[in-house]
Amino acid sequence: RELPGDPRTDTIPREVLHACYSKVSPSAEVGKPELVAWSASVAKLLDLDPKEFERPDFPLIFSGAVPLKGGLPYAQCYGGHQFGVWAGQLGDGRAITLGELLNSRAERWELQLKGAGRTPYSRFADGLAVLRSSIREFLCSEAMIGLGIPTTRALCLVTTGKNVTRDMFYEVAQSFLRFGTYQIHAFRGNENLDIIRALSDYAIRHHFPHLEKMSKSNDISFEVSQEGSSAVDLTSNKYAAWSVEVAERTASLVASWQGVGFTHGVLNTDNMSVLGLTIDYGPFGFLDAFDPSYTPNTTDLPGRRYSFANQPDIGLWNIAQFTATLSAAHLISKEEANYAMERYGIKFMDEYQSVMTRKLGLSKYNKQLINKLLNNMAVDKVDYTIFFRLLSNIKADPKIPKDELLVPLKAVLLDIGKERKEAWTSWVQTYIEELVVSGIPEEQRKVAMDSINPKYILRNYLCQSAIDAAELGDYGEVRRLLKLVEHPYDEQPGMEKYARLPPAWAYRPGVCMLSCSS
Ligand code: AMP
Ligand code: MG
Ligand code: MG
Repeated sequence: RELPGDPRTDTIPREVLHACYSKVSPSAEVGKPELVAWSASVAKLLDLDPKEFERPDFPLIFSGAVPLKGGLPYAQCYGGHQFGVWAGQLGDGRAITLGELLNSRAERWELQLKGAGRTPYSRFADGLAVLRSSIREFLCSEAMIGLGIPTTRALCLVTTGKNVTRDMFYEVAQSFLRFGTYQIHAFRGNENLDIIRALSDYAIRHHFPHLEKMSKSNDISFEVSQEGSSAVDLTSNKYAAWSVEVAERTASLVASWQGVGFTHGVLNTDNMSVLGLTIDYGPFGFLDAFDPSYTPNTTDLPGRRYSFANQPDIGLWNIAQFTATLSAAHLISKEEANYAMERYGIKFMDEYQSVMTRKLGLSKYNKQLINKLLNNMAVDKVDYTIFFRLLSNIKADPKIPKDELLVPLKAVLLDIGKERKEAWTSWVQTYIEELVVSGIPEEQRKVAMDSINPKYILRNYLCQSAIDAAELGDYGEVRRLLKLVEHPYDEQPGMEKYARLPPAWAYRPGVCMLSCSS
């Protein structure tokens, strides 16, 4: 509905009203672009032959310098709540969607070039990407998929050949629709509500087709029981069913982040995917020493809204904004919105308890044991990843002498005093009792635990080393880390140094914490 100007030049920052996107083509200047790294598994999703990466014109195509055949480039319009405050229009300010591809399995993949130049949504910035942030985003999205966590994907990283710290980065997802894609139209007043319906129909038709088939009618059902939201009938309103599915996918996603110690750092509503994907990697961080109040984002201090421990609540807050948008557009009732939020809570607890139970190699959730453990870990600042990886070495044998109980954990329980040793010994004793009760055979338990407790995690200091080398023109470490994080649960001979405790410099501000624009 926005009357397009010349898509190559019309990139004046502005409010784009009554529209979901603006046609715009990549405009970033490229010299002699070079392919730095690429993901073989993403290439496979796109039916791209690995030989294509060797074509001399590949960097030109994948830097946007040569248009993609059949592409219809555009930038998405969206808004968002930033740090709890409505921020108005944001939109794709440095990313341009080049088009969609249907692969041989009839899966739809959207291709997006990040760092492609200005769009109407670039506001006061240049629309370009910084090598540092692209390397982090590229590596982390592939690390996430390696961990088994839903995420947008990264196809490749291309330097522009213009400026060493500028690059472009190719992102791929089934969709980049965000909560903020819907919210913006509700904030722009009643005459825009039909856009929310059209965008919801679009998302359901393309990404949640099972909901369309299931619902009896598309009209809102007001026949909701007064006794509580649990009586909501999801078969009568596809939008209600959709809001529940978005809530549940978000809940599962957050639970899986908690499991691996991932802190997103900027859970603004524009950074929440309606598909339940991890999206928009900025100042993220994986926990090193366990600290529930850890936030990787310097902009998040002192409030720590986006700290590790706060993520589950923030997920719910964001779902509340999303369902409020659908209610404002009269697509779901208040009761249906409440029901979606209720489902978020239930799904999160189910998934979180299941993740933590599996991390401990038990068959039944034990709240006390887990709370005690997390408390101990916080007191002694125990490394989250290494601790859980070592835990599978504890034998389910109640006859182990007391003074040998902590031997399997000694690499992470370094300088602890007598009193803390007692606390840990007592925890391990209870843990062993639980292992005995579970009756899971030793070998089987170890295999199961090692497939949920990663050995290799993309720690911020590892990213930093790769970035430092890349800024000097050496991309070897980027490629090594990519290979490493693709198989985080496997023992990888020769890669032991990447699984060690982080060095002291890892805790320096600027390494363990970054700003929003990093
Ligand atoms: P993010 O931090 O990626 O969630 O971005 C927040 C908003 O700022 C989005 O609207 C981005 O498109 C925009 N933005 C971030 N970096 C740039 C940049 N270098 N140029 C233009 N817009 C940007
Ligand atoms: Mg964003
Ligand atoms: Mg971003």
